[in-house]
Amino acid sequence: MATLEIKDLHVSVATDEGPKEILKGVDLTVKAGETHAIMGPNGSGKSTLSYAVAGHPKYEVTSGSVTLDGVDVLEMSVDERARAGLFLAMQYPVEVPGVSMSNFLRTAATAVRGEAPKLRTWVKEVKAAMGELEIDPSFAERSVNEGFSGGEKKRHEILQLALLNPKIAILDETDSGLDVDALRVVSEGVNRFRASGESGVLLITHYTRILRHITPDFVHVFAGGRIVESGGKELADVLEAEGYVKYAGKQEAAS
Ligand code: ADP
Ligand code: MG
Ligand code: MG
Repeated sequence: MATLEIKDLHVSVATDEGPKEILKGVDLTVKAGETHAIMGPNGSGKSTLSYAVAGHPKYEVTSGSVTLDGVDVLEMSVDERARAGLFLAMQYPVEVPGVSMSNFLRTAATAVRGEAPKLRTWVKEVKAAMGELEIDPSFAERSVNEGFSGGEKKRHEILQLALLNPKIAILDETDSGLDVDALRVVSEGVNRFRASGESGVLLITHYTRILRHITPDFVHVFAGGRIVESGGKELADVLEAEGYVKYAGKQEAAS
């Protein structure tokens, strides 16, 4: 069973004034079959955590460790991370003119599976996954992310999730910019993905509304570049009622 282990992670980002420390000691373990929600105010470093685990070159890990089943993730290239079973939506290019979605997805699946999926079964697989996500068939022939609406980008993320079937998926603000119907479709996609119990999910979000559709096993509050509180799903209800005000001090203290 897969385990992602983040230990005392410190991450700096390159700015014009030099490196700025954003993550100040993150500890988190996500196991197969578990869904963890990370919630926190804007600017607290949630996306920095996902970028750092994804291997984005702008984010420098200054200390701490990230391992998947005991293997050092930080030593891996971005492709190796994907092959190892880590899914991070932002590791994929934002816009790829001239590359169709169906080719892009097949290339990604080839990289992850180690061999190209047979064309005929692949076409069926993509069709089925797109049907479940209520994605129009014409989508397959469009260029990657070119002119995609916010909602289409999010569905695309979940389509990748369904087709690549990673061990651990990190989803950052999957709910942002979605209308009620799209939120339902995307949430159902995530729930189908985790239903096998063989994958772990780290769901990063500012708002509690997606957690009404995807029930987390654990909720962590992120403030000032670290986790300041952890609990069960009931913690999301507390945050919904009270907001992040009580963590403001911790946010400043940690900065
Ligand atoms: P969140 O996702 O919780 O809103 P982020 O991780 O996006 O937070 O940002 C955390 C902090 O790091 C913010 O103060 C943000 O301005 C800063 N930051 C993140 N990325 C960069 C960057 N590439 N350059 C400069 N500052 C950055
Ligand atoms: Mg942000
Ligand atoms: Mg963010």
